[in-house]
Amino acid sequence: MSPDPELIEDLVVANHILFREGVVDGFGHVSARHDRDPSRFLLARSIAPATVTVDDIMEFDLEGIAIDPKGRRPYLERFIHSEIYRMRPDVLAIVHSHSPAVIPFGVTGTQLRPISHMSGFLGTSTPIFEIRDAGGPATDMLIRNADLGAALATTLGSESFALMRGHGSVVVATSIKQVVYRAVYAEMNAHLQLEAMRLGKITFLNEAEAANADQANNGNLDRPWALWKRRAAMPA
Ligand code: MN
Repeated sequence: MSPDPELIEDLVVANHILFREGVVDGFGHVSARHDRDPSRFLLARSIAPATVTVDDIMEFDLEGIAIDPKGRRPYLERFIHSEIYRMRPDVLAIVHSHSPAVIPFGVTGTQLRPISHMSGFLGTSTPIFEIRDAGGPATDMLIRNADLGAALATTLGSESFALMRGHGSVVVATSIKQVVYRAVYAEMNAHLQLEAMRLGKITFLNEAEAANADQANNGNLDRPWALWKRRAAMPA
C-alpha cells in the first residue's frame, strides 16, 4: 500500500527545513516510518537534502533494502534508520546529521544536556555511540551495515537523542514535525551549552523539568513547523 501523499510531502519539506536551519548540509538525512506498513520506512535517495523532491523519496524494509529503487541510489547510512525502526516500535521519524555544534560533545565525553525548556527532550543524559566498540579500530566511521546500525540503536536505547563520536548525532521522535523540532533545538542547545560553559557552572533542567518541558513543547509543534516551512520556501 502506498504511503499517505501528505506524509511524503512533509518528508520533502523536512529535508528543506533541516538544510535552511543549519542541521544538514550536503550530508545528513531524515526518514519517516511508513504510515500504512510499520515494517517499512521512507527516505530520500542519496542526494543533498535541500534538493529532495517527491520523486526522490524511496521506500525501504527494515533490512535497509529498497522496495522499488527505479535506479535511484540509496544513502549508504540507511542502516541507521532501518535498525532504529526495528528496535524502537514507538519511533516514527529519525534525523541523522553532522550538525556542527553537536560534534564537540561527542568527542569529549561532555554530555549534551537540556540547557533550556526548548530542549527537554534531551533528558538527563545523552548516550555517546563509540563505533570502535562495534566495528573495531579501523572503520571509516560510517554506519554502512546492519550490524553497525544495530549497535547504534542499542546505544540510543530508549532515549530521543544520541551522539556519534567523531561523526554527528541521531534524533528520534513520533512525527516528522517533532523530529525536525528536536534536530533544530539539539543544535541550538549545543551552541548555548558551549557559550554557557565559558561563563561558569551550568544548572541544567532536572529530570522532571526536562520531561514536563518536552510534553509542553509537543503540544506546540505546528507553530515552528509553519515558520520553518515558510522560511525554507523563501529564496536564500
Ligand atoms: Mn553520517
